Amino acid sequence: MSMKNCPKCGTEVHFDDDICHACGTNVPIVVPWPAYLIGGFLVVVLVFWAVDWTYWADYFSRL
Ligand SMILES: [Zn+2]
Repeated sequence: MSMKNCPKCGTEVHFDDDICHACGTNVPIVVPWPAYLIGGFLVVVLVFWAVDWTYWADYFSRL
């Protein structure tokens, strides 16, 4: 799926282009929802990876 249709004239537009070459209509780039899911997942993984868990385990064991 690398092409999308212009909402005004129906011409096929490459998914990377945001303007229809036939009529000049602005065609918004469609971001598929799994991309948000993967992006959010990567952020969570990055946070878990960045946190020093041995420090927090030590901190809470002293309470
Ligand atoms: Zn068009």
